[in-house]
Amino acid sequence: MTPPPSAPQRSACIHKWIADLPVRPHLADYAAGCAAFSWDAVRRELLGDGRGQRMNLAQLAVDRHALGAAGQRTAFRFLPREGAPHDLSFAELARQCNRFANVLRTLGVVQGDRLFVLAGRIPALYVAVLGGLKHGSVVSTLFSAFGPEPVATRVRIGGCKVMVTTATLYQRKLAALRESLPSLQHVLVVREDEGRGDGAPLPSLPPGTLDLAQLMREASDAFEAAPTGPQDPALLHFTSGTTGTPKGAVHVHEAALTHYATGRHALDLHAGDIFWCTADPGWVTGMSYGILAPLLHGVTSIVDEADFDAQRWYGILQAQQVSVWYTAPTAIRMLMKAGPELRHQYHFPRLRFVASVGEPLNPEAVWWGQEVLGLPIHDNWWQTETGGIMIANLPALDIKPGSMGRPLPGVDALIVRHLPGQPVEPITQPDAVGELALRGRWPALFRGYLGQDERYRKCFDGDLYLTGDLARLDADGYFWFVGRSDDVIKSAGHLIGPFEVENALLEHPAVAEAGVIGKPDATVGEVVKAFVSLKPGFEEGEALRRELLGHARMRLGAAVAPKEIAFVPSLPRTRSGKIMRRLLKARELGLPEGDTSTLEADT
Ligand code: AMP
Repeated sequence: MTPPPSAPQRSACIHKWIADLPVRPHLADYAAGCAAFSWDAVRRELLGDGRGQRMNLAQLAVDRHALGAAGQRTAFRFLPREGAPHDLSFAELARQCNRFANVLRTLGVVQGDRLFVLAGRIPALYVAVLGGLKHGSVVSTLFSAFGPEPVATRVRIGGCKVMVTTATLYQRKLAALRESLPSLQHVLVVREDEGRGDGAPLPSLPPGTLDLAQLMREASDAFEAAPTGPQDPALLHFTSGTTGTPKGAVHVHEAALTHYATGRHALDLHAGDIFWCTADPGWVTGMSYGILAPLLHGVTSIVDEADFDAQRWYGILQAQQVSVWYTAPTAIRMLMKAGPELRHQYHFPRLRFVASVGEPLNPEAVWWGQEVLGLPIHDNWWQTETGGIMIANLPALDIKPGSMGRPLPGVDALIVRHLPGQPVEPITQPDAVGELALRGRWPALFRGYLGQDERYRKCFDGDLYLTGDLARLDADGYFWFVGRSDDVIKSAGHLIGPFEVENALLEHPAVAEAGVIGKPDATVGEVVKAFVSLKPGFEEGEALRRELLGHARMRLGAAVAPKEIAFVPSLPRTRSGKIMRRLLKARELGLPEGDTSTLEADT
């Protein structure tokens, strides 16, 4: 078997020396940083003496800077699909948010009402989110590629009262179902051709909608933030259920403390950074880190309206002088596919820190970062429910490729045994697989699933939040992802994590993507089955199948290696890039596919 070309130089660890880093990390001493940390101290830092009853996310993220020395600093640099970038300073962002908050007030929208935004990464989305928060509305962003049914389902679950969208998206996704959405009182539309300045008359608005630009022009740019308290709902994020309907996770204004602390510790944001979070604001990462965390730090964010394109992305890193980059494994894999030659046509010497989230980051990808990008990729872990990063590979700590890293200051993570009908017990033995749990309460922890109290209660056991992920903790304090507890495979008494099997397959030079499931088997419970897509230039066939089975057996041992391999053109993924293993399984077994609203279009 031919090992991957650079394997011989690779060790189990990528060592870090602080003296080698261009900027001294905030968390230069992990142990001391964790020992000294308290949420109260973060609260004091953000609110100063004003530690009273009031707290408003947008006021902290925008006004704090807009009214101070950073007012003229760029908050967002928008890169349209074509044409010149458009900058929005903190001061201008604050004025536009105020106008938007006044628009809501004029419409009779009150604190606690639900505002949804369904749009691409255009300036109006950012103004509506932040202006909505400042007004006191509970804000939810929907991914613009959702079809009409997923949009309608979320509007119904969330009791959406006001929707901000574009004229085109309204026509395509909402108009036909509007009658069936009684909670939706106001639809404010952005006309795509607004501001094109060619003097041509604008097309008429879709019936039943209001012209957002017109309302904004008429509104005052003075607005005092709503008197929201730290525990008042601020954000609503939908997360896909394994079956049935999506869950609406509620987050409160004090989540700002988590966004701020994690932006500092896990992303190492410093004033003067140019930060690029590639996640769409329709996902929790795009909200917590594409909007809130950088603003809370007064840092400039790049927002690219276009979709992934390897050349464009390298071009952005270069032209925008991005210094901190937060992206996802799918994007990294696509850059890997595009080849090292393309990367070497670009120079981005200011880039100093790269992080990834959303699904497991294969060791191959971490090494690719080190070897091709020139910087290792720092995987980190969190979920919609946690509201912010919980476990991370940190700038000052050695990276163990394939590991999610270590808990951030303020995060108490542990592995527990969680079996139906039995008490939940901590597992202290290193490397034992169990459910990842988080002890205590932190500001960004979700406060409920809308209308699903029982489902919410089931996530907790005393002071433990049970994440539903299986993981192990090694003797050095690093956490390793094993799989969603729903995805884990039980074969002949072994507990097998699909991620481990997928990693081994990805080490083979022919494999582009791998997804692994357990297939029911009368003798051993489940057998491991892998679905594999190939890199260009490789032919599927019996010989390659046998070679892959042999490769996996050599790497993993016969008990864990797949027994079956199927070649597929691509794997079903969510729009945020996660492999939908449950869908692979449902399709394999001919079972109902469950909630597929987040499925990427062509899988
Ligand atoms: P979501 O709530 O949609 O953001 O999904 C959260 C889930 O994504 C987690 O519970 C994990 O199953 C998975 N996930 C996120 N980040 C990672 C990571 N770094 N490694 C492994 N799994 C991850």
